[in-house]
This record gives sequence, structure tokens and C-alpha cells, in this order.
Amino acid sequence: MEELNNEEFIYTTMEHKKMDFSEWYNEIIDISGLTDKRYPVKGMNVWMPYGFSLMKNTDDMIREKFYGDDYEEVMFPSLISRSMFEVEFEHIKGFEKELFWITKGGRESLEDDLAMRPTSESAMYPMFKLWIRDHGDLPKRIFQIVQVYRYETKHTRPFIRSRDIHFIECHTAHETYEDAEMQMNLYRREWNFFTENLCLPYMEVKRPEWDKFPGAVYTIAFDTLMPSGRTLQIGTIHEYGNNFSKNYDVKYAKENGEGEFVNQTTFGMSERLIAAIVGIHGDDKGLILPPAVAPIQVIIVPITSAEEIFDEYIERVKTQLIKMNFRVRVDDNDNYTPGYKFNQWEMKGVPLRIEIGQREVESNTVTVSLRTRKGRIKVSMDSLSDVDKLLREVEDDLRNNARDLLMAGIEGKPISGQESGIKIMILCESEECARKVESSVEMDMMGHILNYGKEGKCEVCGKNGQSALFSKPY
Ligand SMILES: [Zn+2]
Repeated sequence: MEELNNEEFIYTTMEHKKMDFSEWYNEIIDISGLTDKRYPVKGMNVWMPYGFSLMKNTDDMIREKFYGDDYEEVMFPSLISRSMFEVEFEHIKGFEKELFWITKGGRESLEDDLAMRPTSESAMYPMFKLWIRDHGDLPKRIFQIVQVYRYETKHTRPFIRSRDIHFIECHTAHETYEDAEMQMNLYRREWNFFTENLCLPYMEVKRPEWDKFPGAVYTIAFDTLMPSGRTLQIGTIHEYGNNFSKNYDVKYAKENGEGEFVNQTTFGMSERLIAAIVGIHGDDKGLILPPAVAPIQVIIVPITSAEEIFDEYIERVKTQLIKMNFRVRVDDNDNYTPGYKFNQWEMKGVPLRIEIGQREVESNTVTVSLRTRKGRIKVSMDSLSDVDKLLREVEDDLRNNARDLLMAGIEGKPISGQESGIKIMILCESEECARKVESSVEMDMMGHILNYGKEGKCEVCGKNGQSALFSKPY
């Protein structure tokens, strides 16, 4: 490989700079073809082909991992009756306002109202009760990838806060609490695998008692930092112990025949993963998509007019790359100049571009540019497999940049020129200390940080404590 000269392109299509994060985010989502927010129901957007392909590749990566780890995929009905819900906890009374309710079938009022699922505990656990008989049925480990529905009254924003949410949920049941704890550790390893592929750094934050999922023994959230300085919860895992199984009467017979409540866990992720990919990796030119999930990993742009030999050459490059399992497209639209095309595909975040012109054909090479770097690289036709290595370099760049952003936040440095939106300090477990800090910094106590945690004395009361995250969350 030989380095070529840098060349900057003067075309711009993005109107907003990433410094103005909110405007930038809205603009890039629109013009890159991820979603169409003009759908005439508030908070519900259309997944456009490019956006859906990105989500689908993410789903596939997650699905493959779950299959490899021996989960079974299911698909539950999207409606849950009120009586199924009311088995749950007192919290349903507060939750009721956040659900879409179906109260009529045709013109008749329903006897038992139906809710559009907001998550599937109350759909699945009545069935767990029927499926689980004895210890031979355990562990039970299932997942589904579905839409869930929330009646959001706050300001909605694509992929961050919507009313029709693409959701990935795992539900497991185990004999003992220790088995459920091992499952929680498996989730953490799986989460690490997913975010490595998506090049997203995160803080593992144990939510405080007063903010855990109702019914959970404890909740660990995966929070990342957006360039706006606000944190975004992009995944959660919950240890339920036997709290839900007691409510839903999910029991198994032990070897001695005695009935025992199962121990349960859940893992939830959503389209917020896309929000994090867009927000954290993008730059002034537009999106930068992680190669593992990019709808198009390699875009080939022909530079000169079509001659037969030239077309054959392009076809050969494309076929070889497809054989190596890359997602490749040739942009052979005659209506646009190569410069315009470069600009378009940069905006759409394609990680690697190949240019092929007369020079390349004559020298039996292709010219490669990485979305994360300036300059071009010449790659010989015999070394096209180097594309794999180059895509890994893009991943490294994305991981490093994203990590720098998070670390700047953690260290309290300004983010994108603005004051950091997070604050980390040593705190004990008490709600009183947390509330004092909350009101003085005007941020929420998100919980103690497990993966960047330091121990020390509570900065409010002096008792033993550890690093806690305060932020303004989305
Ligand atoms: Zn304290």
C-alpha cells in the first residue's frame, strides 16, 4: 500500500455543525435517509430503507450472539389485557398513564381493556407459569425483537424518545438466585460484545433504589454520553429475584418435589442504539457508521466515462469484495460528478470508499479512502482482502474518538465546546446525600458507576462511598 496526496472536497451538504448538536442531529437523520418523521401520528416515525437496514444489521448481530449463547427466540402478541397487568405491582397505577389502551373492539366496549405492550413481563410470565413445571425446564432463556409502545407526553425525538419503539428484550428464569446472578454476568459480557461492534463506550451504572425498575431487586443501566453533554441510557439489565414469580405464581418442582418460585432476569435494548451511533460517531460531514452494521461497507465510485474494459474492472472488484462477504455498492449514476458522490456517501457514513479511474485500471489497483481519515491509500488488486484490515482501522478510530468524548465528560472537561453535562463524585448509598448533590448541581443522580468506579469517602457525609454519576439524561 502506498499513501497518496491529501485532497479536500469543497462540497458540503450538512447545514449544521455538530457543535449545534440538536439541530445537527435532526438534520442528519432527515437527509441521510434513516427515518421520515412526517408520519402524521405524533412520536411515530417511518423506518426508511437505509435506517431499517442499519437497525436490521444491528438486530442480526445481536440475534446471532443470543442464538450462540443458547437463548430461544419467541414472538409474543402485542396486546396485554388489563387483568394480566394488574398481577404486577402497585406501580401499574403510575404506569397506566404511559400506556396506549385499547378500550373498544369495533363499536363495543371491551370488558377487559387491552394495552399495547410497553415491555413484556406481564405478557410472558403468565405463560412461564404454564411452561415451567420442574427443574428440568430450567433455565428458561428467551428473547424477542419487537415494537413496543409508550404514550410519551414529553418532547419526542427520533430514536431517542418515540411512541413506537424498536425493542430487544431477553427474559430468563432460573432455579436459584445464584444462577440468575450468573445470567446477569452473561448479559454484561454480551453487552460488551455488542458495544465493541458498535464502537460505543458506556458506563455501567447501578441505579439507586428509588430509580430501579419497579419489581427489580436491582437494575444496572448502560449509560453513554452524547455530544450534547447529556447521558443516554442505551441498555438495561434487571435482577428480579423471585419478585415477579411470586406475583405470577411461576414455580418449579425441585428434585425432592417441593415447589419453589423461579428467579428471573431481563435485558432490554432499543433503537436508542441507533441514536448513540448517529450522535456519538457522526461529524460535521454527517454519519459515520460502524463497519459491523453499516448497510453499505464499501462504496465504489467510478471516476471516468464508461468503457467496456473499465466496467469489467469495476465488476471484478465488486465481485471479489462480495465473495469476501462485504456489503458493497457501485454508484454508477451518470447524473452526478464523482465529487458530489463522495460527499453524499460521506454524509451517509459509509466507512470505506473505493475510487476506480483510468489510472487504477492501468496499474491494477484501487484507491481507498477511510471515512475517519484524510488521505488516500492505493491497494493492489491482489490485496483486496486488505479491505478487512482497513475497516478494522475505521472501527479503532471510532472507538478511540468515542472513548475520548466519554473520558472528557468523566474528567469534567468541556464537550463540543460546551460545559460537560455530567458530574462524577464519591457518594455513599444514602438518598439524602444524593438529593443534596442533585439540587446543588441541578442534575439527576443516575447511580454508582461499576466500571469506572473509585472508592473513597462520601463527599457529602464522609461515610464510605464510591463514584456516582450525576447527569442530565435524555
Ligand atoms: Zn453520604
